[in-house]
Amino acid sequence: MEKTILEQIKNEEEEMLKFAEKIVNIDSGYDCPEGVAEVAHHVGDFLAKLDFKIEYLETPNEPVQILATRPCPGKKKVMLMGHMDTVFPKGTVAERPFRIENGIAYGPGVMDMKSGIAIGLYTLKALIDNKWNDTDLTVFFVGDEEINHPKTNAVENFKKYGKGMDAVFNMEPGRAEGEVVTGRKGLWRPKIKVEGVAAHSGNEPEKGASAIIELAHKAIDITALTNFATGTTYNVGVFNGGRLANIIPDEALAKLDVRFKTIEEADKAKENVKEILAKTYIQRTTTTLIDEGIVDYMPPFEETPAGLKLYEFLRKQAEKLGQTPLGRLYVGGSSDAGYTTMVGAPTICSMGPKSVGAHSNNEYAYVESYVPRAQLLAMAIMHLDEM
Ligand SMILES: [Zn+2]
Repeated sequence: MEKTILEQIKNEEEEMLKFAEKIVNIDSGYDCPEGVAEVAHHVGDFLAKLDFKIEYLETPNEPVQILATRPCPGKKKVMLMGHMDTVFPKGTVAERPFRIENGIAYGPGVMDMKSGIAIGLYTLKALIDNKWNDTDLTVFFVGDEEINHPKTNAVENFKKYGKGMDAVFNMEPGRAEGEVVTGRKGLWRPKIKVEGVAAHSGNEPEKGASAIIELAHKAIDITALTNFATGTTYNVGVFNGGRLANIIPDEALAKLDVRFKTIEEADKAKENVKEILAKTYIQRTTTTLIDEGIVDYMPPFEETPAGLKLYEFLRKQAEKLGQTPLGRLYVGGSSDAGYTTMVGAPTICSMGPKSVGAHSNNEYAYVESYVPRAQLLAMAIMHLDEM
């Protein structure tokens, strides 16, 4: 059966690419929830034919999520996860629709991550067409990953559906050499606002309290917390304040970007920043932390023993297929893989095609990598008992 499954994936390469083309050619940025819904329905129609139970999870005026399940009691549980939205606004498809040139696929979201969706679906099709019935399968795709799920319950759902899985594969793009990602830093991105007292810098400077100087002290203190050994870093990336040179500035605003590898480090970082903000260098200034919760926070995708074990297993499957050794990377950018890891599910990120340039107009994916990636995923699902 294994052989026919792997062969079918190869034989259906063209259809897989056609499916990728179909969903790339639907604008599905944040200004286009109807595009996300259209993608979701293509996914739903595809999986319904494979006996999945399909549920569209709606949030009014927000992008839809799709949950597809094919229960198989007593068997290993596998979830494919991902997102159907892109970073590109309405009209991008008209400007630069899907195209293949010299073995390279282009188009908005071709890399991040519509090709990963196509690869996931054609893997499942090959398994099920060949009567593979030994895995409990779940597919869960959201529509607001690129904006960090501000208004839907996507985060809760990743945790809810990820819990108890034996393996989770996030179909985000594979890296430039086809590596998968086994860990990602989390981020916290609050704003810091300081209010001081304005005064004329020539006539009565003693009456002023400089918000800029207060914030400058704090920015230096915060940046000094950076610890490259633990991987927790602090960047004051934006710093604004003042209006005219002859006014003691009464307002200053900074935007902070903190990255960390573990949730413990995240909590520590928040405390440390708050401690610094509680100090006062310039009397009569007040400092406020503007922390917009979920919009400003992504948990780390922690590297766990269970996740690394899944990677080792996957590397073995790649070896069996004669693929180039499957590398793994730890990266600074975050993804939803952190949520399924938080609930204990071994998770591998970046199971999509080998690709380059996410979020840019030059993103592309190597067509030759679609079939190997789907075959690798199929092997992982078929052999999961051996892990
Ligand atoms: Zn993505």
